[in-house]
Amino acid sequence: MNRKPPCKLTVKRALVCVILLAMPARSVASPQASRQAQGSRLPDNARVRAALDWFSPNISWVNDQQARITEIPAPPFQEAQRAAAVKELFAETGLPAQIDKIGNVTAELRGVNEKEIVIVAAHLDTVFPAGTEVKVHREGSRMTAPGISDNGSGVAALLAMARAAQFAHLKPQRSILFVGDVGEEGEGNLRGMRALVEAYRSKLKAVVVLDGSGTDHVTTKALASRRLEALITGPGGHSWSDFGMPNPINALVRGSVRFINTKVPASPRTTFNIGQIEGGTSVNSVPHEARLKVDIRSESEDELTRLESALRECIAAGVRDETESAHDRSKGKLEWKVDLLGSRPGGELAADSALLAALRAADEHIGNQSRIERSSTDANIPLSLGIDAISIGVGGSGGGAHSLQEWYDSAGREAGLKRALLTIFGISGLAEEQSR
Ligand SMILES: [Zn+2]
Repeated sequence: MNRKPPCKLTVKRALVCVILLAMPARSVASPQASRQAQGSRLPDNARVRAALDWFSPNISWVNDQQARITEIPAPPFQEAQRAAAVKELFAETGLPAQIDKIGNVTAELRGVNEKEIVIVAAHLDTVFPAGTEVKVHREGSRMTAPGISDNGSGVAALLAMARAAQFAHLKPQRSILFVGDVGEEGEGNLRGMRALVEAYRSKLKAVVVLDGSGTDHVTTKALASRRLEALITGPGGHSWSDFGMPNPINALVRGSVRFINTKVPASPRTTFNIGQIEGGTSVNSVPHEARLKVDIRSESEDELTRLESALRECIAAGVRDETESAHDRSKGKLEWKVDLLGSRPGGELAADSALLAALRAADEHIGNQSRIERSSTDANIPLSLGIDAISIGVGGSGGGAHSLQEWYDSAGREAGLKRALLTIFGISGLAEEQSR
């Protein structure tokens, strides 16, 4: 890790720190540099310390909110009930919240400079369909339930941030918008974040995404991905009397076998996954349709485009093979199409960005080392548009994401909450009357 040594380690840096502390920041540096300087001395501020100290005695409150939120089902496209509960919890902290057109719940902590905004977002949705048992089982500091970590932990941290900031009467320089957003998982296609970025684009200075547990990473690189659906249709018929007519499932299987033999490079890392396959109505019918869903990811947009074309060519070839081998083509032919279900654009945070500096300063304060990661998160949207963004875990530990055995252990979660709060206020800055 290329981490900057703390100020006190070198004489030269110590001098710079003294100068920055002694003079009004504005007169010596750009607003960005002054915020960076402020980030490294944030924990010295009494109000910031009060906010940081709020977490330890209130961990059971945070855990309880996490359990409560996780037990409100939030399947894809059905986040409304959870959003309403989060709205109420924001209101309890004294931050009036709203639900926007797309279903995001937003609560604003007004800054001195309302023309600039920092978004802190945790996604509300889960991958689990309606009807999934979401009761939380608790044993000591460990909680088990689908969605408890991804993203029950993130939403609980979001509320904890708001609560701690309100408790300590923190006033940011730039406004902070706390958001529980919809549509992060699967076919939600990041619609909540897309809508937010569109609505606030002109004021938006940074986005901090809270997603899952841990403090071991910071996602600064957005992994590009596409989700595609192949559909093959035909006339359908009887398994005995219509034997020999082209069969959409046969064609799909033929095309799939071709596709999974496609070579992908190890670098730039590129992957594909056939995640769902369905079709047919009964064992003794020639099906009239068959469909397949594929997720493709790559460090390179070019590879994605290449792989998407490969899928189209393979499905077309599967249809051709099946049609050629069918000896009865009189009852109709096969049709096919490949649709784009979703696309997550790639992007990357600059290594010298103020946001990464704020995160590094927070890491340093809690004695943490984190590695840079590339992944597919809500941060993809701002990063793809050149807006500074990161995605981080919120402390504690967890596992089994997207499975019914998902778990979260809150032991040590304070460190993650402090890291997130320092990062957020590091990038928003503190109101000048509070920063002294
Ligand atoms: Zn997540």
